[in-house]
Amino acid sequence: MGIYEELGIEPILNLAGTATKLGGPLMSQEVVQAMSSAAASSARIDELQAAASRVISSLTGAEAGYVTSGAASALTLATASCIAGLDIGKMEQLPDTMGRPNEVIISREHRSGYDHAIRAAGARLVEVGMNEQLAGAGARRTETWEYEEAITPKTVAIAYVAGPGGRPSLSALADVCRRHSVPLLVDAAGQLPPRSNLTAYIADGADLVAFSGGKAIRGPQGTGFLVGRRDLIMSAALQHLDLDELWETWIPPRGLIDRERFAGLPRHGIGRGFKVSKEEIVGLIVALREFMQGSFLGLLPKYRDYCQRIARAVDEVTGIRAEMGLFHSEEDFPTVVVHIDPLEAGQSAFDVVRRLRSGTPAVYVGEKGLAEGYLTINPLDLDDDNLQVAIDRLTMALVPDA
Ligand SMILES: *Cc1c(COP(=O)(O)O)cnc(C)c1O
Repeated sequence: MGIYEELGIEPILNLAGTATKLGGPLMSQEVVQAMSSAAASSARIDELQAAASRVISSLTGAEAGYVTSGAASALTLATASCIAGLDIGKMEQLPDTMGRPNEVIISREHRSGYDHAIRAAGARLVEVGMNEQLAGAGARRTETWEYEEAITPKTVAIAYVAGPGGRPSLSALADVCRRHSVPLLVDAAGQLPPRSNLTAYIADGADLVAFSGGKAIRGPQGTGFLVGRRDLIMSAALQHLDLDELWETWIPPRGLIDRERFAGLPRHGIGRGFKVSKEEIVGLIVALREFMQGSFLGLLPKYRDYCQRIARAVDEVTGIRAEMGLFHSEEDFPTVVVHIDPLEAGQSAFDVVRRLRSGTPAVYVGEKGLAEGYLTINPLDLDDDNLQVAIDRLTMALVPDA
């Protein structure tokens, strides 16, 4: 009996892709084995993080890197490092900023549930721009002068959420940041693939970039990583590591933390609650290496075939029209978009999702378009063994009285 059955939990079929609430994508055997090998002996976490920093920096072109518990905690640590820098007195006070600079400028278009992670470090968000395109009230996006106008002595960072078609461009915003010596913090959690994005944001002038380790990279689901300027990563490390150390015997790994830059040893910082295990650090490094070597490229033809077979099968159903999803890059995973005409199909996209969730195995699909009458299917968890199960469950749920 598997561990899920033992716990009384039914395994699900995840056709929603990298969703955290569904446990994210499955890890490769190489990653699982590396984690299991790391579990067999103890190691210093700061030394593992220094090793991770070397690997991440060689893969991304950034000065340094750091493994975090998800991109969300990378954003909290990044913000904490922009607020405190290498000042251990300020580290000790966070999240209380006590009248000190704590403002992070962000475009209204970039607000989301994830900005809670920035506020958690003690920052106050200052919004700029409008959201007039979405409101149907105008043609313009947020412009660089609006960010520039908002910079004051209380500004500690500008936050930017990366994505295709983002405005202003990251490089234009990086110019503003450089002129005012304000760090530019980028949330790129889900922007992989393409692999080129691992280097692009740093090359465009970002000071810190947060990526998710548990999305398409297929690292341990709870991981993420922060890349960027060495001094900012040093601050993040100092506010994250377990610092139950004695000053007399504390020898942190050079490169990650330069002991001589500090007059003393801070106590556990604001990031201590986001700890990362040795198994997770190792798993993330191995997954990131595999991802950069393009191990997923070999899977794309198989995924395209799965998607086409699913699309053909569900397209037969009355009131259903299936098509392949849009691509932003050659390295994108294929998807299927399934349009449901409620009058012809006799049910809404919401009805279909409820039926998919309640059958055996329960099936979960992408739900972003339900209100517009479509659902999306991501093949990340499909293989030759469960493809037919997926097709059967989908076609059954799409026929209202089946
Ligand atoms: C997924 C996501 C996050 C959070 O990433 P985790 O690794 O799950 O913490 C943050 N920002 C954006 C834009 C995301 O898509």
